[in-house]
Amino acid sequence: MSEDRDLALDATITRKDFLNAALLGVGGALLSSVAPAWARAEGAEQTGSDTLTGFGGTGDYARSNGNTKPVLDAAHRVRDGVYTKAGVSIADTGEIYDVVVVGGGIAGLAAAYTVAKSSGRTKSCLVLENHPIFGGGAKQNEFQVRGVRIVGPQASNQFGVPREGGTSIASEAWTDFGLPRSFSYQDVDASVGGLKIPLDNYAHMDGVNEQQVDVAYYFDRSSGAAKPMWVKNMWRNDLADTPFSPEVRADLLRWRRTNGDTTEEFRRKLDTMTYAEYLEREMTLRPEVTRLAAPIVGLINGSAPDAISAFAAQQIGMPGVSRVRSQTGPLPQSFPGGNAFYAQHFVKWLVPDGYSGAPGLEGVHNGRVNFAALDRKGQSTRIRLGATVFRVTHAQSPADGEHVVVAYEQNGRPYAVKARNAVMASGGMMSRAVLADLPADIKAAYATFQHAPALVVNVALDNWRFLHELGAPCVRWFDDEFGFSCNIRRPMVTGGAKPAPMTPDDPAVLTFYMGLYTAGKPLAEQLSLGRKRLLETSYADFERLIRRRMTAMFAPFGFDARRDIAGIVLNRWGHARVVQPPGFYYGRNGQPAAREVVAKGYGRIAIGHSELGGHQSATGAMAQGQRAALQALGK
Ligand SMILES: Cc1cc2nc3c(=O)[nH]c(=O)nc-3n(C[C@H](O)[C@H](O)[C@H](O)COP(=O)(O)OP(=O)(O)OC[C@H]3O[C@@H](n4cnc5c(N)ncnc54)[C@H](O)[C@@H]3O)c2cc1C
Repeated sequence: MSEDRDLALDATITRKDFLNAALLGVGGALLSSVAPAWARAEGAEQTGSDTLTGFGGTGDYARSNGNTKPVLDAAHRVRDGVYTKAGVSIADTGEIYDVVVVGGGIAGLAAAYTVAKSSGRTKSCLVLENHPIFGGGAKQNEFQVRGVRIVGPQASNQFGVPREGGTSIASEAWTDFGLPRSFSYQDVDASVGGLKIPLDNYAHMDGVNEQQVDVAYYFDRSSGAAKPMWVKNMWRNDLADTPFSPEVRADLLRWRRTNGDTTEEFRRKLDTMTYAEYLEREMTLRPEVTRLAAPIVGLINGSAPDAISAFAAQQIGMPGVSRVRSQTGPLPQSFPGGNAFYAQHFVKWLVPDGYSGAPGLEGVHNGRVNFAALDRKGQSTRIRLGATVFRVTHAQSPADGEHVVVAYEQNGRPYAVKARNAVMASGGMMSRAVLADLPADIKAAYATFQHAPALVVNVALDNWRFLHELGAPCVRWFDDEFGFSCNIRRPMVTGGAKPAPMTPDDPAVLTFYMGLYTAGKPLAEQLSLGRKRLLETSYADFERLIRRRMTAMFAPFGFDARRDIAGIVLNRWGHARVVQPPGFYYGRNGQPAAREVVAKGYGRIAIGHSELGGHQSATGAMAQGQRAALQALGK
């Protein structure tokens, strides 16, 4: 297989720290037709059945990169009713909690924080989380490259600093966590020649802050170019150098410059049609505009513009339907591990010795999880990891029951705990499957929720000299083979002393975000095709696509896959987010929206996860978790 050799799929990575983490990460159990680079390392076992998970990086998150095979297997056991069959004996742990929270993502941790804070840490609370580490979509990947720790986001990325003295949970928690309200980022060495490097992984995308950072656009034959060509910062000179026809160029510029309205009436109108309908019918733009916007809404809204509402596109700030973003203000920001920081600080606050290091930015970023401290008897909040909940039900009926019984699987064994109240923060996909006594209206409302897959890949680079030679830290391409863009960031300064300015010879994380959608198909089909592709492509096959993509684009700028790639982590999210088709937000035909019906909860069970707010965000997740916790506490 000479292509595999050219792409360095046979490369042996021998750096000790890297190898050890790889072996610890998945027990060396990864098999495929072509073993990926890390698995070829000295001593790595070449047998096993996990072709999906791959290398998980180093540090606390090494065994938790997206939906790993063990997590998927446990979820499938829930789906298949393995533990709810007659005759299965479930061990009663004898525990009774004031509140049990199902799901340790941002919503679940915010619920636990609300329980602890509002009761002065007197109420007992157990968080059950199925992954090996808390955070849900707010997790990070870590790498050690040439002795340097580099970090990238697994999904949730961009944050805004909440207003000081504000009343939102985000603002309150920010103060409790001792976080600063302004941040500095590593300087860029003068030798880099003024390259504009983003602070997050979205700024470079079309319709965001793409004119404030350096983006190189790669047009190959499939995108209309006579031969492959690069165009630098295409929006800054009105697309003049692109292969788009003059008519398409004019439409793209009109799309990019048109403001949406902000009135309630306009929002309601947008919720009655798809974004594609709005662009092509209301704005009379050419389909090429819809196609250019597709990867961004496909990622952030979860499906193609022909399936998501124009209101969903407005919620994420897309041109035409929302206010045109300023190209001169401050850039959007992210922490090294994206919004993993929220989860880490919640845990530090809830279980102070659950994290080494002092509270605050530096202590937590450089700290390590003390897993043994998270689930200790006697503390007001306990966090139980690797615990997949398979059934939640009132002990008697929702109207007169005294308890909720929460049953979960841990290490292959089923257990049950009791709760005076439960908060479901596990996302609609799971909640509707495990809530055994759902009232008919919530069941019907939940049945309308559809979830989209997403893939986030972090490639650890030994150096990023090829990007320097190319003249851009961000790259955008237009064919559908794999993803649509990737970028490196200027890392946030998290310690006291500012590190030396970054140079192209330093290690860096190159991050690829992508949705998996198929425009032109009905929504349900788009989602199932995307999930199939996400979950049926082996780690090795994705690795090959990534190496091929990078080699095709970057080899002319000196990229050498064997030398420059130090590691690849895939974060697969099977049900990354709820999709908002028309009617999702405001409801249809005068009926309440399904998300509002679900948010009512029932009996002793409150339901709060970010999906219920429409567009999903970390702060939205906190608000939902807080609301559900207060409901559970009867406040
Ligand atoms: C690719 C991507 C990019 C994003 N980017 C941003 C961004 O830049 N900025 C931003 O603000 N937001 C972003 N978001 C959205 C935001 O991160 C999420 O909305 C938020 O983190 C979701 O929090 P949650 O707690 O509601 O759900 P989740 O994070 O999904 O948490 C639910 C938790 O419940 C667990 N769970 C599920 N089932 C069970 C079970 N049966 N038993 C036990 N545990 C269970 C899950 O493993 C998970 O840990 C992004 C989301 C994605 C997917």
